Parts: sequence; C-alpha cells; structure tokens
Amino acid sequence: MSRPARQQDYDVIVVGAGPAGCAAAAALAQAGPGLSVLVVDRADFPRDKPCGDGIAHEVTEVLSELEFDVERVFAGAVTVDELALRSPTGVRVRRRMRHQVHVAPRQIFDARLVQEVRRRGIEVRRHPVRAVDVAADGVRLDSLRARVVIGADGAESVVRRGSARPRPGRVALAIRGYAPELPELAGCQFITMTDQHWPAYAWSFPIGDGQANVGYGELLGRRPLSRSDLLTRLHELLPGLQPPSGLRAHRLPLSSGRPPIPDGPVLLAGDAQSMINPFTGEGIFYAVLSGALAGRAAAQALTSGGDAGRLYRAATHRRLGRHLRHTSALARLGGWTALIDAGLRAGREDQRAFDDLVSFGLADGLLTPRLLSRLRFRG
Ligand SMILES: Cc1cc2nc3c(=O)[nH]c(=O)nc-3n(C[C@H](O)[C@H](O)[C@H](O)COP(=O)(O)OP(=O)(O)OC[C@H]3O[C@@H](n4cnc5c(N)ncnc54)[C@H](O)[C@@H]3O)c2cc1C
Repeated sequence: MSRPARQQDYDVIVVGAGPAGCAAAAALAQAGPGLSVLVVDRADFPRDKPCGDGIAHEVTEVLSELEFDVERVFAGAVTVDELALRSPTGVRVRRRMRHQVHVAPRQIFDARLVQEVRRRGIEVRRHPVRAVDVAADGVRLDSLRARVVIGADGAESVVRRGSARPRPGRVALAIRGYAPELPELAGCQFITMTDQHWPAYAWSFPIGDGQANVGYGELLGRRPLSRSDLLTRLHELLPGLQPPSGLRAHRLPLSSGRPPIPDGPVLLAGDAQSMINPFTGEGIFYAVLSGALAGRAAAQALTSGGDAGRLYRAATHRRLGRHLRHTSALARLGGWTALIDAGLRAGREDQRAFDDLVSFGLADGLLTPRLLSRLRFRG
C-alpha cells in the first residue's frame, strides 16, 4: 500500500506558469516579499501554447511595473508597427499603430517569463493539479496546501472547476499554425473578419524570416465545429495561403461571458477568469494584468488582513471595470456588422480614432467620444 504524500504548506500557490501565473508570482514577490510562494505547472518549460503570438505594447508596460527584464524577455522578437483590418462586409483600414507590438512565439516568451520568476528565488515546480478542496484550514491541491490559491491554469482551468465556479458564458474555438507570409501582408499584422459565421475572423501575424503565425477562430454556438471547418474557413479568408505547419486548436473563454469574482481564498486570473477580448482574441495583456492584480490582492490579504477575493474584485473593478463594461456592451451588439464597418471607416479617416480602436481591441481602451462621434452608418 502506498503511503499518502506528506502535505506541504505555503502562503500562496499559483497554479499555471503562463503569462497570468508568472505575473501573479512577480506581484507576490514585490508586494509580499516574506510570503512563501510556490508556482506549479503541469508542463515543463519551454512548452508550446496555441496562440497568435501577438503581444500588445501594454504587456510590456505591465511587465516593466513588475520588474521583469523586458529587453531579455523580448530579445529577438519581431516588432510590427502596421495593422490592417477588414470588416465582415469588406471595409478595410491599414495604418501604423501608435505603439509597436511584439510577435513572439509562446514557446520562447513564456519560458523567459518563467526564468524571470525563478531569478527572484520563487520555486516553479512541475505538478499537474488534479483536485482542489477549499476547506476552513486552507485550500488543498492534491498533497499541497495554501492559504490563498491563484488559479492561472488557462482555458480549461482545473482550479475553476474544482472551486465550483460557473462555466464561462461565451467561448470561441481557434486554430493556429505557421506558414509563409502572403506577399501583400509582409511585415503587417492582419485581421480579417467574416459575415459567414460572424463573430469570426482569421489573422496573419509576421514572426520573421518570411513566416507568419496564421489562424482562424469563431464563437462556439449550437452547431458543432470541427478541425476541418476551421481549416476550410482559414483558407477561405486568407486565399493563397500555403498549408500551415504546427496546427493546434484551443478554446478562448471571452471576457463578455466571464464569471463574477467571489469572496474567498481562490482567485482566478487570465483565461481561467475568462479574460479574452471578444473582438480580437487578445488575452496576454489581460493575463498579465489580472495576474498582477491577483498577486497583489493575495499579498495584501495575507500581510494586512482582508478577504483576498474581495480585494481582487475591487482592484479589477477599479483597473478594468469601465473597459470591460464597454467591450461587453459592444459584444452584445457585435452581431450588428454595420457597427464594425462604421468603426473601421472611422479608423480609416482619422489616425486617432484608429489608435482608439487598437487600444480597445488590444489593451484597456474605451469607446471614446472621439471614436463614437466619427461613426458613420451607411444605408
Ligand atoms: C489560437 C489562439 C490565438 C490567440 N492569439 C492571441 C494573440 O495573438 N495575442 C494575445 O494576446 N492573445 C492571444 N490568444 C489568447 C492567449 O493565448 C491567452 O489569453 C493567454 O495564453 C492566457 O494566458 P494564461 O496565463 O491565462 O493561460 P495559459 O497561457 O494557457 O497558461 C496556463 C498554464 O497553466 C498550466 N496548467 C493547465 N492546467 C494545469 C493543471 N491542472 N495543473 C498545473 N498547471 C496547469 C498550463 O500548462 C499553462 O502553462 C490566443 C488564443 C488562442 C487559442
């Protein structure tokens, strides 16, 4: 008979060492340097993560605040300053962005974040969490126990399911691969939407050496969606594309269907908390920001008192509340393609309206009066 493993106690355990988990660990090191913190991930790093690899400028700002060495993290990554968008009915805009974005394969980007966390003396251990038990004396994760747990374990979060949280309300499915860049899109990030299965879009993001990260995603609905559906639609939207390699599909829990943040010692961050922009599929900015907010809330609860969940909810509301209200409101109208057309026309006519659109889609921007006043609807 095997003996039960000895229980190990920590102040905080972060489950998942992706962008949300690494940001949470760094925030804990900053805000609660005396706390015992363990990060666990079911994978060894480097590991792949199906993603467009597009990393918004604002991610760099959050990582800098958390004292990551951003030059090291992004060393060798491609920078892109042009973005082209095509609406479901064919309205196009192509402009320079106010800030460059990075395109960095997640295999490299995430492994560098983990290295940065380890450099602070925080242990990152391989451990697939299977069971979560929230009890009066702490949160048990298999043979581990913590006073606070941060579930940063992605779209299929075991921590979310184990702590009896509601299922994400709106989920998309996307496939990504790597292929030679289409000549007309060289050096440019491109997102093209379709009215066939709206809301849905394909993308091409350059990764250097003439290659691009390409993919297609759409909202999961009542109809089943197969891998071959996703691939057919990818090739329809990016005609002339050579068959991509490294194809992998993954779910995207959208912020317009995110569950509420309850009181208590279990916090969810990043995809586990359904933090993905419903218009662009952006999730890395939300992941590092929500991870940072969760880490700080946990540190505050354990060093100064208070409920970690309540502190995290209040911090998320302060930092992202207006933005999330605007994205959710627009997502409810998202089936109205005339609105997307009008937004893209506004961006085509005015650089600052375009900057507002980019910030709305890739970071924490709002539907500004400047953008709204430029919307023109055509019969
Ligand atoms: C096809 C596709 C394209 C996308 N393109 C973009 C893009 O271009 N730009 C952008 O900003 N966002 C994009 N996103 C969204 C982005 O990938 C996610 O929002 C982001 O990875 C979320 O980070 P995270 O840390 O929350 O989760 P993840 O990056 O998924 O990390 C979760 C970690 O938890 C670990 N884990 C899972 N279960 C367990 C367990 N039981 N025990 C221990 N560890 C566990 C995993 O191994 C993983 O390392 C895309 C998503 C998809 C699917």
